[in-house]
Amino acid sequence: MVRQSDVYSRGGIITEKNSDYCTVRLRLPAGVISPAQMVGVARIAEKYGRGDVHLTTRQTMEIPHVEPKNLEAMVVELKENGTPLGAEREEVVNVVACPGNDRCRASNIDSISLAKKIDEKHFGKDMPVKIRVSISACPNSCSGEQFNEIGITGICKPIRDPGLCTGCGTCVQYCRESAVGVKNGTVQVDDGNCIVCGACVSTCPYDILTSESPAYRISVGGRRGRHPAVGKHFITVTSEDLALEVVDRLIDQVYRYAYTGKLLADQLDKMDFDVLKESLMQQLPEGSILNECI
Ligand code: SF4
Ligand code: SF4
Ligand code: SF4
Repeated sequence: MVRQSDVYSRGGIITEKNSDYCTVRLRLPAGVISPAQMVGVARIAEKYGRGDVHLTTRQTMEIPHVEPKNLEAMVVELKENGTPLGAEREEVVNVVACPGNDRCRASNIDSISLAKKIDEKHFGKDMPVKIRVSISACPNSCSGEQFNEIGITGICKPIRDPGLCTGCGTCVQYCRESAVGVKNGTVQVDDGNCIVCGACVSTCPYDILTSESPAYRISVGGRRGRHPAVGKHFITVTSEDLALEVVDRLIDQVYRYAYTGKLLADQLDKMDFDVLKESLMQQLPEGSILNECI
C-alpha cells in the first residue's frame, strides 16, 4: 500500500497553478499503450480527475485536476492498469522513441524495443539532474533525440561493393543530400554530405551499394527549453547491446559526477566524458565502434 506521504515524495505528481489540485503523469515508455490500458486510463481519469487526459511532449499522458486526498488510491489503480506513475524530477524520465523498425520504412533500428529496455533498467532512477533519453531510428530525428540529455540515432553507412556500376542513377534518386552521384559511369559517395540515413542502400539492382549492420549514434548533453542545444556526439556503436551498455555507463557517470542545480548541458565540461569514452573504446570489442559517423 502506498502512503500519501510516499506518493508526494515521488516524481510524476505535479502541483497545478491552483495548488488545490495535482496533475498525475504516467509512465509510458515510447508512448506505447494498449487499447485496454487506454480504457483503464479513461476510467481512472473520470473517477479521480475531471475526465480529461493530456498527451505530453514526452509521449506520455497526464491526468489533470486530481485532489491530493485521492492520490494514494489512484496510484494503486494506475499500477494495476499497467500505466504506473511517471517521473518529472531529477530522475530518468519517460523514454521517448519514434516508431522505428516496428512501422517506419526509413528506420535502421528497433527504437521501441530499445526504449523499453532502457526504461526497464533506468526509469525513475534518482539522479542529480533530469535525464531525458530519446531514440530516433534514422537521422530524420522525428523524436528530436539530439535535444535530450542522451540521444540515440539509428544510422546506416553505405558501402560501395566491387562490381560493375551501370551508371543508371537509380541510387542517386534516393539521396536527399546529393551525397551519392555517378561520375564517369561509377557511383561515388561523398562522405562530407552523407548523413548515413541508409536510404540509398539496397536500391541498386546490382547490389553495388550495401551496408554493414546499422549502428547506434549516441549523443550527450542536448537540451530543449529556453536555451536549446544539440547534444555532443559521444560514441557510435554497432549493436543494441553495446548501445545499452553505453547508456548504462553514461547514466552511472552522471550519477557520480553531476551536481544538482544546473542542466547536464551546462556541466558537460566537468563530466570527464572524454575519459569515459577513452575507457569504453579500450573495453568494447574491436570493430564495435564507428567513430567516423559523427
Ligand atoms: S526518425 Fe526515421 S525511422 Fe523514426 S519515424 Fe522518423 S523517419 Fe521513421
Ligand atoms: S546514406 Fe543517405 S545521405 Fe548517405 S548517400 Fe545514402 S541516401 Fe545519401
Ligand atoms: S550503384 Fe547501382 S543503382 Fe547506383 S548508379 Fe550504379 S548501378 Fe545504378
